[in-house]
Amino acid sequence: IIEVQHLKKHFGKNEVLKDISFTVKPSEKVVIIGPSGSGKSTLLRCLNRLEDDYDGRVIFYDQNICQAKTTDLRLIRQRMGMVFQQFNLFPNKTVLENITFATIKLKVMTADQATQKAHELLKQVGLDDKAAAYPQSLSGGQQQRVAIARSLAMNPKVLLFDEPTSALDPEMVGDVLGVMQRLATNGMTMIIVTHEMMFAQKVADKVLFMDKGVVADEGTADYIFNQTSNPRTKEFLSKVM
Ligand code: ATP
Ligand code: MG
Repeated sequence: IIEVQHLKKHFGKNEVLKDISFTVKPSEKVVIIGPSGSGKSTLLRCLNRLEDDYDGRVIFYDQNICQAKTTDLRLIRQRMGMVFQQFNLFPNKTVLENITFATIKLKVMTADQATQKAHELLKQVGLDDKAAAYPQSLSGGQQQRVAIARSLAMNPKVLLFDEPTSALDPEMVGDVLGVMQRLATNGMTMIIVTHEMMFAQKVADKVLFMDKGVVADEGTADYIFNQTSNPRTKEFLSKVM
């Protein structure tokens, strides 16, 4: 469903991604781990063209998205949702409006359909009673679950997560991971950057260990967490686990 081929990206002289290649199959859960500054966020941002101007190719549904025009970009981002560390909800819209806004504006559905769908999604993330609330009245974990519901409203084919629980108080983390776990079980294709190693072990079909702009190690969760002999992977894991 996604094929990344020889992706390279630099900011000035700083080579942030150096020849990254990997594939993501339908329903696959790919977890990306690695030290701060290794290029994980930049990689995700290249995938849906939040980051422009890179070398290599990203093929999504047989389309080279590096060449996509602005009009296609909208469709690409509709199909490839992204959840950020800082939830990025609209503060002056209610939870319900946050979820329905884009789908109505982009005419993905009618207002009635969007509202009905939003209620279903809020139920899925355990927040059906918060439809009329404003983001600032919610906890971080609740806001992140709204952000996930908002991404799901577009019926994406793939969801990208960039450290979705890093900004949360510890007691909120479990609820958000629970929602993600359920999505995973239901067959969603997901690419997840996270420092939650227990979660990574549980859901990952494939783990990419990034270090200094390259995929330094790659394999099943069992391989990365129990078997690898790569010294960089082992050193990183010994620090974070
Ligand atoms: P973290 O775990 O801290 O989120 P990361 O692996 O996500 O780190 P990136 O955010 O992708 O790392 O950053 C990789 C490198 O790219 C860093 O050296 C960073 O300073 C640089 N970088 C990222 N975005 C930009 C930008 N817009 N302009 C210039 N340099 C950037
Ligand atoms: Mg990052």
